[in-house]
Amino acid sequence: MSEVTIFGLGLMGSALAQAYQKAGVSITVWNRTIKKAEALEPENVVVAPTISDAIVASPVLIICVDNPKSVLTLFGHSQVGRLLDGRTIIQLSTSLPKQVREDQKWLAERNADFLYGAIHCGPQYLGTKDGNILISGPSASYRQVEDLLGHQGGKIAHLGDDIAAVSVLDLAWLSVRFGEFLGMLHASNICQAEGIDLQKFISMFPDNERIQHHVGTIRDGTYDQRTATLSVWQASLELLKRQAMDVGIDAGFPNHIGTLFDKAIKAGYAEEHVMALFKVLKGDGGTTY
Ligand code: NAP
Repeated sequence: MSEVTIFGLGLMGSALAQAYQKAGVSITVWNRTIKKAEALEPENVVVAPTISDAIVASPVLIICVDNPKSVLTLFGHSQVGRLLDGRTIIQLSTSLPKQVREDQKWLAERNADFLYGAIHCGPQYLGTKDGNILISGPSASYRQVEDLLGHQGGKIAHLGDDIAAVSVLDLAWLSVRFGEFLGMLHASNICQAEGIDLQKFISMFPDNERIQHHVGTIRDGTYDQRTATLSVWQASLELLKRQAMDVGIDAGFPNHIGTLFDKAIKAGYAEEHVMALFKVLKGDGGTTY
């Protein structure tokens, strides 16, 4: 038996697994593409060949895949669902409030506990003092996994019993991030079009790490960094659009940025840093996107 199973070995899932390995926590891992497990050190890890094997291996199941409906996608099959009885599922894949509430209900019908979390740091910070994850869901369930989650970083916070609270706050936080992206891209375009060195712009914000990092990425053209990719950010943007539809609020903001993302994906930049958006914005001759 392992202490925890991790479903998903993308950038984030692999970082979660590595943080547990570093802390000496025994883990089982499952990934749709099993080959990705080869990148993990062989210590303290069991690679489960099937979803059923991965469920029965541990009392706590962490999901971190790029799919907001992943609870049902992974566990929806009736034979698999039966195995969830008595387990705690921690959903760390970015999802929507409506979906999170449905997942909680579905899992409760199978006698499984459920917590939802939003990872608010890059994969490189998991397992360090800057590892930052916000969790919502029943306090009693959280207390049972608090120590286990604590291995992921120094900034793990429980925001209360309302299962959807973190999802709502995460969407609000994402809106701010997308607004910042658009502002930084346009600012960089203004500077470059007039021959002003981007470093001069960056220097106007000595205390703003995001401007230092993102505009620095444009300045240096280092779009191949291993962090949240443009396609991962686009998946979050799709959630902002769907949330606007779910609750009937204006979708103009996410729709507007979405067209820029679509262009970048079409141009082949899906696996690059999100600031690769600049490559499709630059020199666009004033085209509205
Ligand atoms: P990623 O590197 O693109 O990896 C995607 C993972 O999801 C892979 O393991 C992939 O399996 C799996 N997957 C996708 N669709 C699936 C499906 N239908 N069934 C089973 N597995 C599926 O993404 P990531 O960066 O690890 O992101 C994972 C989650 O963490 C996302 O919800 C993202 O929003 C969230 N997150 C990421 C970051 C970040 O900095 N990367 C930050 C905060 C939150 P295969 O290997 O088989 O393709």
